[in-house]
Amino acid sequence: MLEVELAACLRKIPAINQVLTYPGMAELAEKYGRERLLQEIQRHLAELRQAIIAAGPLVAGDKVDLSFAGICVAVREALAKADQARLRPVFNATGVVLHTNLGRAPLAPEALAAIEAVAGGYCNLELNLNTGKRGRRYDHVRELLQILTGADDALVVNNNAAAVLLILTVLAREHQVIVSRGELVEIGGAFRIPDVMALSGAQLVEVGTTNKTRLADYAAAIGENTRLLMKVHPSNFRIVGFTAAVAREELVSLARQRGLLVVEDLGSGVLYEQSGSGDFWGEPSVQSVVRAGIDLVTFSGDKLLGGPQSGIIVGRRDLIAQLAGHPLNRALRVDKLTLAALEATLQLYRHPQQVVSHIPTLSFLLQPAGRIEARAREVAQILTETHPAWQIQVQPGMSQVGGGALPEVELPSWCVVVRPPQGGAHALAERLRTGEVPVLGRVVTDALWLDLRTIPPPKLAEFTRLVVMAMAPG
Ligand SMILES: *Cc1c(COP(=O)(O)O)cnc(C)c1O
Repeated sequence: MLEVELAACLRKIPAINQVLTYPGMAELAEKYGRERLLQEIQRHLAELRQAIIAAGPLVAGDKVDLSFAGICVAVREALAKADQARLRPVFNATGVVLHTNLGRAPLAPEALAAIEAVAGGYCNLELNLNTGKRGRRYDHVRELLQILTGADDALVVNNNAAAVLLILTVLAREHQVIVSRGELVEIGGAFRIPDVMALSGAQLVEVGTTNKTRLADYAAAIGENTRLLMKVHPSNFRIVGFTAAVAREELVSLARQRGLLVVEDLGSGVLYEQSGSGDFWGEPSVQSVVRAGIDLVTFSGDKLLGGPQSGIIVGRRDLIAQLAGHPLNRALRVDKLTLAALEATLQLYRHPQQVVSHIPTLSFLLQPAGRIEARAREVAQILTETHPAWQIQVQPGMSQVGGGALPEVELPSWCVVVRPPQGGAHALAERLRTGEVPVLGRVVTDALWLDLRTIPPPKLAEFTRLVVMAMAPG
């Protein structure tokens, strides 16, 4: 008996041709193409069929919408959804300023303008406008990098991992490279110094121990086939306690005596020094590393520098020339969008009074906590007004630099803490994450923590609206 009823129920599903005659379908066929529309209708009808079978004939009528309007809306929404961009802007309220999963450094307005200026048309990417002859794409940022870092020359590749791979491949293939055991780091996303070394064809020679490496350890390991001494900045961890590492100057002088090169993978690449201190919260600046005499220094463009993804190499001219001329450099090269954004970002560093306020990464890191608190209070007040039954608090929290930089630095910040009345902080976090503009926060036990450090004032109203909407789901 049930089978008969089920069959009767399934027969109520309209045929594709019937659906095609519904009002609005011609318009959809025009917009998305007839083929795609047919596929979508077919998919939706198959779904309805499965839903009826799953619900059973007795309740299917209540649960499955077979109306014209229901089918039209579902098909229209599915088509629109498929056309939505997969890569979308999100709000980062996690408290991690350089979040690799969220695209690391947001670009300065000047960098965006530079991309826009060259992206839609032609540009002098590899043309020297003075001579009318072929130029090099790196020339657009070379002089700026020379001025800002004090290095003789510069090259830019896809990212810092690429920069390290290029150097090891070109300068140390089939030769030995000496690295301290305390610096055999893994950076997120499968960048491990020993693996990159193997890929390049260079032979890793480990010296010292995890916590202590001395100059004598390097000296004793140097052999006939040694080409490079390499220093790797322990970006994302710190070894504390009974430790020793060799100063750059000492390593440089040992290398000079023995006719070797010294290379440093600096990771973050700080250009902004706090009051000429040579560092930024203890992170050595690129300038200070160049001054110490390191032959080649590599760093990321999208970490503390606050620019686009790129790997920047600065150092000795003859070595940079070798790197630039190698076929691997061709495979790792950067495009015009990156160069435009990088040039504009580097230009900002030539205006020390303005650099912090213009580069989002720096302004997020260096803003006074009082300003973050003021924004948190503003948001909390609106949430309290719209949702009197919810527990909304403003609480101090700790933000992190992120991006594998300054792991031990905790930045005092302010958060809006939202506690749904009947639990469900995870459900709230999910609604925020899957909303029209996703908002990412942190769930701690039964509350959602939203760190306001990386929500800039012009975006505050939209951010608040999204949280209000997610608190009261449609
Ligand atoms: C981040 C980092 C890398 C990788 O840089 P990408 O630009 O992400 O490729 C390599 N080495 C160190 C020390 C780093 O901190």
